[in-house]
Amino acid sequence: MAEKGAHLTGTTLIRPSIFEIIAQESFASTVEPAFKKLLSFVVSFNPERYGHLLRWADEGYLIFNVILQKHYFKKYSASFSEAFYGLKRIAIIDSKIRQKLPKKRAKLSLVLLVLFPYLKSKLYQLAQSYCFLVKFIIDILLQKWQKLYRHCVVKGCTISFIIYEFIVLYNYILYIAGKSVYQSPLLRLLSVTLTYAEPERIISISDLLRKIRNNSFNITDGMDILQRTVTTSLELGAFFLQFVSWWTQEHHYKSLMTLPTPPPPTIPETARQHKGKCPVCCKAPRVPTVLPISGYAFCYQCILPVIRKTGKCPVTNYPAKEDDLIRLYLD
Ligand SMILES: [Zn+2]
Repeated sequence: MAEKGAHLTGTTLIRPSIFEIIAQESFASTVEPAFKKLLSFVVSFNPERYGHLLRWADEGYLIFNVILQKHYFKKYSASFSEAFYGLKRIAIIDSKIRQKLPKKRAKLSLVLLVLFPYLKSKLYQLAQSYCFLVKFIIDILLQKWQKLYRHCVVKGCTISFIIYEFIVLYNYILYIAGKSVYQSPLLRLLSVTLTYAEPERIISISDLLRKIRNNSFNITDGMDILQRTVTTSLELGAFFLQFVSWWTQEHHYKSLMTLPTPPPPTIPETARQHKGKCPVCCKAPRVPTVLPISGYAFCYQCILPVIRKTGKCPVTNYPAKEDDLIRLYLD
């Protein structure tokens, strides 16, 4: 397939750079978190009433994505992020380039563009939920076949995600090397590729004023301006939300790093009694050895037999093993 499409490069097809492809893909991947952030922001005004909406955030985004992508496909023959980077989709049929995407190909593009990330995210969430279920709960509650099913889902997801990422990488390498005209495995599946879109004619302010002066400003111009305002604010809004998400993340990490040092724990009365003395023999510790779980220092000769016999700290009764003992070098 790669070799078949290779001759299309050159004069007939202007190939966008790999940087534009990666940039538009990463831009596309930020729309969903931005949507969910916006949704949780709206819900935060009245969590009791609208809190349940968050459970359907994925499906809400699916509907929003269908509407958004459908509009962009109809208007620009490209997805939201592709149009943002000035790209459009064209079809390759029998090794020939078709500037206009056939209807069937456009529909399939839309279905794959919307459904693939949704299903991928759902599968990932399912695998994650199976991974995080505590092991002993699994042992008690689940039947053998249920455990096997969960194990297969987790392993299957991991393997298929790794394989998919490898295919994406391989596809990038082929594209960079000029051996393929398809920018992603999904586009290859559809025999659709990306190229630069023709620059759109934008009505200038002087044109607009002239039209108003001549009374030739009609409802189509009004709709065009309204539509452009909405799409531009949507694009800028997504970009802004991406920035806000990065900013809050940075701030969050910074605030974690700059947390004040908590005060030391208060010293209990028992600890005061044993200050500077081995709690077992009540003398100054010889070969001082600390038991980290309780924080008490003993003579090595005193604590070792106690731990071996009882498996507990003699002061606090916390469980301890011989391996837990740490020699202190105070002299
Ligand atoms: Zn002692």
